[in-house]
Amino acid sequence: MSDYDLVIAGGTVVTPAEMFIADVGVKDGKVAAIGFNLRGLRSIDANGLLVMPGGIDSHCHIEQLQEGGGADEETFITGSTAALAGGTTSVVTFSTQFKGGGILQPLADYWRRAEQAMVDYTFHQIITDATDAVIFDEIPQVAAAGIRSLKVFLTYDPLHLDDRQFIRVLAAARRNKMLVTVHCENYEAINWRTAALLADGRTAPKYHAWARPAMIEREATHRAIALAEMVDQPIQVFHVSCPEVAEEIARAKARGLKVWGETCPQYFVLSADHMDRPGFEGAKFMCSPAPRDAAASEGLWTCIRDGVLDIVSSDHSGWSYETPAGKRVNGVDAPFRDIPNGVPGLGSRLAIMFDQAVSKGRMDACAFVRLIATNPAKLFGLYPRKGTIAPGTDADIVLWDPTKSVTLTNALAQHIIDYTPYEGMDVTGWPVMTIRRGQVVMQDGRVQAEPGSGQFLAREPYDLIKPTGNVPNGFDASAFLV
Ligand SMILES: [Zn+2]
Repeated sequence: MSDYDLVIAGGTVVTPAEMFIADVGVKDGKVAAIGFNLRGLRSIDANGLLVMPGGIDSHCHIEQLQEGGGADEETFITGSTAALAGGTTSVVTFSTQFKGGGILQPLADYWRRAEQAMVDYTFHQIITDATDAVIFDEIPQVAAAGIRSLKVFLTYDPLHLDDRQFIRVLAAARRNKMLVTVHCENYEAINWRTAALLADGRTAPKYHAWARPAMIEREATHRAIALAEMVDQPIQVFHVSCPEVAEEIARAKARGLKVWGETCPQYFVLSADHMDRPGFEGAKFMCSPAPRDAAASEGLWTCIRDGVLDIVSSDHSGWSYETPAGKRVNGVDAPFRDIPNGVPGLGSRLAIMFDQAVSKGRMDACAFVRLIATNPAKLFGLYPRKGTIAPGTDADIVLWDPTKSVTLTNALAQHIIDYTPYEGMDVTGWPVMTIRRGQVVMQDGRVQAEPGSGQFLAREPYDLIKPTGNVPNGFDASAFLV
């Protein structure tokens, strides 16, 4: 008699709170029991392996629609392949808006593409044009569809919002029980420094970092927090690059505000020096905010230990290096201003962070699980269905060999992008099997899943992102449609 469809036997189960040797019994795609001597139709020997919740990447750009038609090179099929190969089973990607248009049509178009996914997925809705129609009519419909997070950019042409538009988005989020995620850099400051650098003939990729020093990220973070505090709307600050920026989040938390901070692998293992490689190669490492230096990277660990930063996402954003539509879309002599930003990292996020966090002795596997699965599940309304291993949760599980040493290559990343910024990096700890809702979808690097087998994760309102109720003068301005 088999009580379970699948038993993962004898591994070390890692939850956000504890680690212990046990069997995990899976039935109908869910974890049904954790115990000993469980019997299943199929049994997988996990002796010597860690049994961890599948990764949740709450910030990755996959097949994102582009202005004028088309989409990012990374498709939901190739992106899912990279994710599953790397031990990630759920993603939050981006539906976008184009200035002058609404959000519902692009969302419908994007959703059709996402239906090819082989990982489970949900979206952040990007707002680039806070028109009355979007704010008062369309955002409520997006929330009703189960999308509980908005994304705004405080920099980038033509995406950025001015303060008034940003405030309107914050207020709309508050009315519709959504979270707001923010790209924090000062638009005018970057433009000013960029103009000066180009006037001085400094056009190489390395000047990307010179154009956007840490204080312009810190300023925008401070401003985003202050405006969110005024509206009483919870926010998450995306891709914090250094402790100087995280300090603003720490101060907000100390004031009792619901402000969270995310960072990414590139801020631990890349630096501004990578953009100083000969010729055009520095373009491979260009992302925003720019990676800083070794001291900043080490300082981020303190921010994580202190709970100031609690999520590590990939910000996977693929632009191939050799193809005409990628990094060199404006030519190899293009000034840094005209080179697309972003680095791929969906498949390597867990391996890099496990190596940096656990193999290098900075934290234990439970803390690692919180960073890459539990905390994103909680903040984005997916917990406890996702983000932990316990009876009743989806059986999204990665079997991890903590002793396996691997040299990262682009082929191992399994994305469509033709390079990885982590080429040649040695890591210890590697995913050997990925299980999504009880189904083995990756074994020893071979991904086997049906396109369209990923599920959309509709998100209901949840307590963590409820406003605090503290508004200036006790006057809730967000209740008025202005
Ligand atoms: Zn991003």
